[in-house]
Amino acid sequence: MRITALAGGVGGARFLRGLRTHLDRSPDLADAELTIIGNTGDDISLFGLRVCPDLDTLLYTLGGGIHEGQGWGRADESHRVQGELAAYGAVPQWFALGDLDFGTHIVRSQWLGQGVSLTEVTARLAARWGLPDQRITLLPMSDSPVETHVVVEDEDGQRAIHFQEWWVRHQASIPAQRFQAVGMDRATAAPGVLDAIRTADVVLLPPSNPVVSIGIILGVPGVRDALRGSAAPVVGVSPLIGGMPVRGHADACLRAIGVESTTAAVAGLYEDFLDGWLVSTEDEASLRLARAAVRGRPLLMSDADAAAEIAGAALELALELKGA
Ligand code: GDP
Ligand code: CA
Repeated sequence: MRITALAGGVGGARFLRGLRTHLDRSPDLADAELTIIGNTGDDISLFGLRVCPDLDTLLYTLGGGIHEGQGWGRADESHRVQGELAAYGAVPQWFALGDLDFGTHIVRSQWLGQGVSLTEVTARLAARWGLPDQRITLLPMSDSPVETHVVVEDEDGQRAIHFQEWWVRHQASIPAQRFQAVGMDRATAAPGVLDAIRTADVVLLPPSNPVVSIGIILGVPGVRDALRGSAAPVVGVSPLIGGMPVRGHADACLRAIGVESTTAAVAGLYEDFLDGWLVSTEDEASLRLARAAVRGRPLLMSDADAAAEIAGAALELALELKGA
């Protein structure tokens, strides 16, 4: 079986690690192949290095190197390089980069500088983290740089800032007026991305941010059409529980695009291709969707086992819709 998933960072990575665990525990599913299409709209150049936060969170989580408490960055990390940069007055200082993490950004930037595509760079990083051994392929959504910028207005007037500055530095506290995926007009889907959707048996949307993770991937030319045209059932997992994001500021992102912070409204963003929608038990009763089948269950990924059970439920719904 071929499973394809679209993913952002922490929510996507925890869900997909759970999915791999679920597959490995199911004798008839253990040889399933998982292809992950990762959001690169969060990417940013810092200190001359290319940083891909969502791809790295996926690599570290699936490869067993993640800082579990934070959900991002490396376990057993130190910050000596960042301290040295601060001593030189180098900016920005608001984006935390650990010493081990710097290794990833250095080698990625070196390879990109040699003309290696982000797809190939990501494959090399994934090899180090053992993803191929787990039958996982991690693809960036695009090889061309796309950066999410946020149009904000405060006492300094209206301006666009990088998504990371809005999210990390300002904690989404400045109201966003809109998001711009800078570079998307010149972007194409990375090799293998559209095929992974077209040839999948099942497509899953983890509970990633619907606006700045999944929403950005859906903006890559051809992705949305491939999902609409896909014969495979597309099943999503709600990132909202009782209308609130479990972590992060998805509510602020939804507000910026004029969408209510409800699980029904999030499903509405996927309406043209969504076949199944897994929601939290408390959201189930009030929810009727025109096209998609709704299923309710506890959706808090409180630990790896809980994530595996949630992923298993999403897959089960997809297989049911497939009539398998
Ligand atoms: P990011 O790129 O690190 O922000 O990660 P994602 O975009 O992949 O996922 C962020 C989303 O995951 C947020 O909107 C959260 O509400 C959602 N999320 C995080 N943990 C959980 C959880 O345990 N259950 C559910 N249902 N959603 C979660
Ligand atoms: Ca992200």
